[in-house]
Amino acid sequence: MLTCQEVLDNLSCYLDGEGSEELRRELERHIARCAQCFVIVDTTKQSLRIIADCEPFEVPLATSARLYERLAHFFAGLL
Ligand SMILES: [Zn+2]
Repeated sequence: MLTCQEVLDNLSCYLDGEGSEELRRELERHIARCAQCFVIVDTTKQSLRIIADCEPFEVPLATSARLYERLAHFFAGLL
Protein backbone atom coordinates (compact mmCIF):
# COMPACT_ATOMS: atom_id res chain seq x y z
CA MET A 1 0.00 0.00 0.00
CA LEU A 2 1.34 3.40 -0.99
CA THR A 3 1.54 6.23 1.51
CA CYS A 4 -0.39 9.46 0.99
CA GLN A 5 2.90 11.19 0.20
CA GLU A 6 3.67 8.66 -2.52
CA VAL A 7 0.23 9.20 -4.00
CA LEU A 8 0.82 12.95 -4.11
CA ASP A 9 4.27 12.43 -5.61
CA ASN A 10 2.75 10.41 -8.44
CA LEU A 11 -0.44 12.39 -8.83
CA SER A 12 0.45 14.29 -12.00
CA CYS A 13 1.74 11.09 -13.52
CA TYR A 14 -1.51 9.36 -12.69
CA LEU A 15 -3.71 12.17 -13.99
CA ASP A 16 -1.72 12.32 -17.22
CA GLY A 17 -2.33 8.62 -17.79
CA GLU A 18 1.37 7.87 -17.45
CA GLY A 19 3.24 5.45 -15.27
CA SER A 20 3.25 1.68 -15.21
CA GLU A 21 0.10 -0.39 -14.96
CA GLU A 22 1.24 -1.59 -11.56
CA LEU A 23 1.77 1.95 -10.25
CA ARG A 24 -1.65 3.03 -11.49
CA ARG A 25 -3.28 0.05 -9.79
CA GLU A 26 -1.52 0.88 -6.53
CA LEU A 27 -2.59 4.52 -6.79
CA GLU A 28 -6.19 3.57 -7.52
CA ARG A 29 -6.22 1.12 -4.65
CA HIS A 30 -5.01 3.78 -2.25
CA ILE A 31 -7.36 6.46 -3.57
CA ALA A 32 -10.31 4.10 -3.31
CA ARG A 33 -9.59 3.60 0.38
CA CYS A 34 -8.28 7.00 1.44
CA ALA A 35 -10.90 9.77 1.61
CA GLN A 36 -8.22 12.43 1.92
CA CYS A 37 -6.44 11.42 -1.29
CA PHE A 38 -9.74 10.87 -3.09
CA VAL A 39 -10.74 14.47 -2.38
CA ILE A 40 -7.34 15.74 -3.54
CA VAL A 41 -7.49 13.71 -6.75
CA ASP A 42 -11.11 14.64 -7.38
CA THR A 43 -10.47 18.36 -6.83
CA THR A 44 -7.38 18.28 -9.01
CA LYS A 45 -9.23 16.47 -11.78
CA GLN A 46 -12.04 19.03 -11.73
CA SER A 47 -9.50 21.83 -11.94
CA LEU A 48 -7.81 20.09 -14.85
CA ARG A 49 -11.15 19.67 -16.59
CA ILE A 50 -11.82 23.40 -16.32
CA ILE A 51 -8.41 24.08 -17.81
CA ALA A 52 -8.97 21.44 -20.49
CA ASP A 53 -12.27 23.09 -21.42
CA CYS A 54 -10.27 26.10 -22.55
CA GLU A 55 -8.04 23.99 -24.79
CA PRO A 56 -8.90 23.05 -28.36
CA PHE A 57 -7.71 19.48 -27.75
CA GLU A 58 -10.08 16.68 -26.90
CA VAL A 59 -7.55 14.20 -25.55
CA PRO A 60 -7.13 15.66 -22.03
CA LEU A 61 -10.90 15.83 -21.63
CA ALA A 62 -11.39 12.26 -22.74
CA THR A 63 -8.62 11.10 -20.43
CA SER A 64 -10.11 13.03 -17.56
CA ALA A 65 -13.58 11.56 -18.17
CA ARG A 66 -12.17 8.03 -18.35
CA LEU A 67 -10.31 8.51 -15.09
CA TYR A 68 -13.35 9.93 -13.42
CA GLU A 69 -15.47 7.01 -14.59
CA ARG A 70 -12.92 4.52 -13.34
CA LEU A 71 -12.68 6.22 -9.96
CA ALA A 72 -16.44 6.41 -9.62
CA HIS A 73 -16.54 2.70 -10.41
CA PHE A 74 -13.93 1.99 -7.74
CA PHE A 75 -15.77 4.04 -5.19
CA ALA A 76 -19.11 2.45 -6.02
CA GLY A 77 -17.53 -0.94 -5.45
CA LEU A 78 -16.78 0.04 -1.86
CA LEU A 79 -20.34 0.93 -0.98
ZN1 LIG B 1 -4.02 8.85 1.17
